[in-house]
Amino acid sequence: MSPDLEAVLALQAEDAIVAQLNQKLRALDERLESLNTERTSVEESLERARTTAEAEEKRRRELSVKVEDHKAMQERNLATLDVVRKPKEATAAMAQVDMLRKVLSQEETDLHSLSLRVPDVHHAIDGQQKTLAELDARQSEQRAAHAAERAVIEKELKKARSIREERAAHVPPPILRKYERILSRNTSNVLYALRGQACGRCDTAIPLQRRNAIAAGRAIEVCEACGVLLYAAG
Ligand SMILES: [Zn+2]
Repeated sequence: MSPDLEAVLALQAEDAIVAQLNQKLRALDERLESLNTERTSVEESLERARTTAEAEEKRRRELSVKVEDHKAMQERNLATLDVVRKPKEATAAMAQVDMLRKVLSQEETDLHSLSLRVPDVHHAIDGQQKTLAELDARQSEQRAAHAAERAVIEKELKKARSIREERAAHVPPPILRKYERILSRNTSNVLYALRGQACGRCDTAIPLQRRNAIAAGRAIEVCEACGVLLYAAG
C-alpha cells in the first residue's frame, strides 16, 4: 500500500469518528428540542388558564358595576313611582320598574354563576403550575445529564478534529482537495476498495487500465459513476 493511500485511509478513519460524534450531538439536540417542546406546551396551557381567569375576572368586575348602576337606577324609578299621581304616568313608571327588575334579575344570576366559576378557574391555574413545576424538576435532571453528555462529546470531538487535521497534513494536497470535495457532498465514506473489477460502493465496472493503475498503487482514482475515490485493498 502506498504511503499516500495509507495517509488518506487514516484520515478517513478519523473522519468517521468525527462524523459519529457529530451524529451524537445532533441526536442530543433533538432530545433537547423535545424537552423544550414538552415544556412549551405546558407553559401554553398555563398561559391559557391565566388568560381565561383574567377575562372572567374582568367580566365579573364589569357586571358588578352594571348591577350597582342598575340598582341605583331602580331606586330612582321607585322614587318616581311614589310621587307620580296621574294613572298614565304611574303605568309608565311601573313598566320601567318591571323592566329593570327583569334585567337586574338576569344580571344577578349571571354574576352568581360567574362567581361560582372563580374557584374552578383558579384550580385550573394551580393545576397547570403544579404540572409545570413537576416537569421542571424532572427536566432539570435530564437537562443536567444532557449538558454533561454534551461536554464529553464536545471534548472528544475537539480531540478527533485535531487528530483529523494532523492526518490531513500528511495527505498530498491534490488528493486532499479531491477528498475534501467528496466529503463535503457525501456523508458516507470517501474512499472505497475495489470489489473485484468494480467500484466497492456502486458496483460499476472499472475499465481495466484504470483498475491496473489502482491495483499497482500508482493512483487513487475517482469512480466515474458515483464519484468516490477507489483503491485496491490488500
Ligand atoms: Zn462508484
